[in-house]
Amino acid sequence: MDRWTRSVLVACSCVASVSCIGIEPESEDADETAVEWITCGGRVPDRTASTLSALPFQTLDRATVPAAASSIAWTWPTTTNEMANNFGAGRSYNEGHEGADLGGRRGDVIRAAAAGRVVYALSSCPDNDMRRDITCGNGWGNHVVIDHGRGVFTRYAHLQWLTVAVDATVTAGQTLGMLGHSGLSDGPHLHFELGTRARPFAACAAPQNFDRVYNPARLRYGAVPTTQAPPRWCRVSADEANVRATPNGTILRTLTHGASVTVVRAQGTWYSVRFRIDGRDWGGDASPAWISAQMLSCTQ
Ligand SMILES: [Zn+2]
Repeated sequence: MDRWTRSVLVACSCVASVSCIGIEPESEDADETAVEWITCGGRVPDRTASTLSALPFQTLDRATVPAAASSIAWTWPTTTNEMANNFGAGRSYNEGHEGADLGGRRGDVIRAAAAGRVVYALSSCPDNDMRRDITCGNGWGNHVVIDHGRGVFTRYAHLQWLTVAVDATVTAGQTLGMLGHSGLSDGPHLHFELGTRARPFAACAAPQNFDRVYNPARLRYGAVPTTQAPPRWCRVSADEANVRATPNGTILRTLTHGASVTVVRAQGTWYSVRFRIDGRDWGGDASPAWISAQMLSCTQ
């Protein structure tokens, strides 16, 4: 028995008609109270049909990543950090490869690429070398989906074993399971997807697609995330504030204490703003007007 299978099964309250159990992870300082992670009694359907085209395709976006991804602190989900450049690669049964494949050895630890909540976890697929059950988990095999908030999700597929269950809150870098070879897989690796989805995941239903998937290779791993959306309403809190054509650029005019502005966007410590003064509109996308955030007092 390995270190993961020594987790303790404990009873917990059930959600709706779902027969559920909670898994208390092995930990030196584990909380005594039973957590209410949904595991659906181990009866999550492992496939939707006998063919991989049973689900509507995930729409591939080859151009960019979700805007909200820039405010998330991303870390590598594998220990090797070897990511194949195969997002969107050709396939016969869908639009193309929906994620990126990361190398590693069977049993390598797979980690959450960012903080979030587990919203789907399938663990009933065999981890095999014989290419049986390649449609198990709709081809993803054993897999975990994490909701990172603001509509951004990641999926970790072909796992050998899972160490988390639905509703678990995870931190960036927290172990989700072990690298494996379950589902439609040519060999041990992590199939890693970055996606967006409008509707919540159904924890006890068959595997579900994202609405749109993006190339995980475009994420900035190990970088400090940008700040959240800038505030919306500001007043000049200094005696006066220069309005500039660009951050630190040419001064267009000067606003006095108490003048109100609307923030359009932020660039570092500078805000592009709109305001109306003396019967004239300033700012906007065509003619940005920038003010140092240090000159302003703002609210959302
Ligand atoms: Zn893949």
